[in-house]
Amino acid sequence: MTDDVSLADPHTVPTRFWHRLDDRRVQCDVCPRACRLHEGQRGLCFVRARADDRIVLTSYGRSSGFCVDPVEKKPLNHFLPGSAVLSFGTAGCNLACKFCQNWDISKSREFDTLADQATPEVIAQAARRLGCASVAFTYNDPVIFHEYAIDVAAACHEHGIRTVAVTAGEISEGDVVVIRNEGPAGGPGMREMLAVTAAIVGEGLGESVALLTDGRFSGATHGFMAAHIAPEAVRGGAIAAVRDGDAITIDVDSRRIDVDLDGDEIAERLAAYEPPPAPERGVLAKYAALVGSASEGALTDPQPARAPAPAGGLPV
Ligand code: SF4
Repeated sequence: MTDDVSLADPHTVPTRFWHRLDDRRVQCDVCPRACRLHEGQRGLCFVRARADDRIVLTSYGRSSGFCVDPVEKKPLNHFLPGSAVLSFGTAGCNLACKFCQNWDISKSREFDTLADQATPEVIAQAARRLGCASVAFTYNDPVIFHEYAIDVAAACHEHGIRTVAVTAGEISEGDVVVIRNEGPAGGPGMREMLAVTAAIVGEGLGESVALLTDGRFSGATHGFMAAHIAPEAVRGGAIAAVRDGDAITIDVDSRRIDVDLDGDEIAERLAAYEPPPAPERGVLAKYAALVGSASEGALTDPQPARAPAPAGGLPV
């Protein structure tokens, strides 16, 4: 219990994503931790708490760890390459990783000594003054302070500065993870999937989270995983129609995988689906053009749906 949370504090603001439970607790719905709090209690992230019978954020406008980084430090692919990014985080985190490099921020309980006061507008102006093309919410999972982050993003937008959120994974029991465009034509090249499956199993979710992919597994994979789904997404397979939040049912006994969508919705989504751009030259382009669907066995002729051979022959 804590008695230091009050909406009278200028850094404490009401939040939207929570609901009441029958047992009179209040559940925070921001992240998979789903903290169920009595009055005065803080969530695992420490910065969200129950006060005045609602969930509040206690770190609005309190930030820490300001640093100008090359954007290449962020886990992004070709995002404003060569530019500088202004990084910051806040106290608290919804994770408890033993190897955390930012534990002095993410596990801090010392808001006042650690955090600087910075309004969204102050951060946006600082980024512009420092020549940063973007601002990154990082060091801890920004979903826990998203009310603040959203306002910072809006202020940055006014100054033509982009924002980046370095979030934690959000996979919890009962989820079905879908990874597509990792098949021989869509990848292309059948990248190793073991790191993904190992991460799921390593989180202790091997029995309660399933993985579906049009990519390939090697023999070392274990857990509730199904790969080689065909046709793969880039060839118009149904896996391309799946979106976040869809309900997927895997019935092992009847050997079926179903998504809770009607045929018209699937057709509409497939018609609107745009796969990521294919390589146009080199060995991967050649491979993607030649390879066939796993459902059709071994093929040796060029396939029409992706990376067709240009006039004059295949790229070399
Ligand atoms: S954001 Fe914080 S309070 Fe909310 S569920 Fe996650 S850890 Fe708990």
